[in-house]
Amino acid sequence: MTSRLYRDEAVVIRSYKLGEADRIVVMLTREHGKVRAVAKGVRKTHSKFGGRLEPLSHVAVQVHRGTNLDVVNQVETIDSSGRMFGDLDVMTEGLAVLEAVDQLVPDREPVPEVFRMLVGVRKTLSERPSALVVPAFLLRLLAAEGVRPELDRCVVCGEVESESTPLVAIDLERGGVQCRGCRSGVGITSSALHLLRDVLDGRLGEALDRAHRPGGQVLDDPVVAEVASIATRAFEFHVERRLRSVAIFERHDTRSEP
Ligand SMILES: [Zn+2]
Repeated sequence: MTSRLYRDEAVVIRSYKLGEADRIVVMLTREHGKVRAVAKGVRKTHSKFGGRLEPLSHVAVQVHRGTNLDVVNQVETIDSSGRMFGDLDVMTEGLAVLEAVDQLVPDREPVPEVFRMLVGVRKTLSERPSALVVPAFLLRLLAAEGVRPELDRCVVCGEVESESTPLVAIDLERGGVQCRGCRSGVGITSSALHLLRDVLDGRLGEALDRAHRPGGQVLDDPVVAEVASIATRAFEFHVERRLRSVAIFERHDTRSEP
């Protein structure tokens, strides 16, 4: 008989009340994917691990696999830099990241790449926050899902960017950038296009260094704002399309019943 206890590393996504004193904690674990588990008694003041299960907490957990719900038995803090998330801007950005993960990742399906990215973005938010962190995370999360916009050639005619053929627009429905002649999407500046390539082509670190301004992280850089808007639309577009395809799949499913 297999053990009903497992240990894993996790980042807490969110939690909600259950009964008088308990909470359900939703967390992304390294090996077990997104897990929902009951944390018993955490809402009592003397709870031994309630404070370690706040959103963005990076913890080691021991979980008992239950028939209906798993139960958290032990929680140890791995990285306590989460206290820095007391900064409201940073916390808001952290919550945006968690919400995106929650929307995209299905329950109990291991996504080690996404887990690694979540631990990384948590560190970036605490060490060098900027308005680029969330958009960059969304774009890379989509790339990890296999959805990555074409940024180097027009998605309609296939023309590679050149002085005579600048890429001037982006159409997410068609999958990427477009030249002037084929344009159907929204306009994109060449600075934003370059920043998109930096984020997706392995120069993320440098891009984040440039975007980080100690002391303030207002969205005042028009290029970052443009990339943020593209990233948000790309993410929403993907989530909607997936919801639609699930809906179609479910309709087919019902029809195929005898
Ligand atoms: Zn074209």
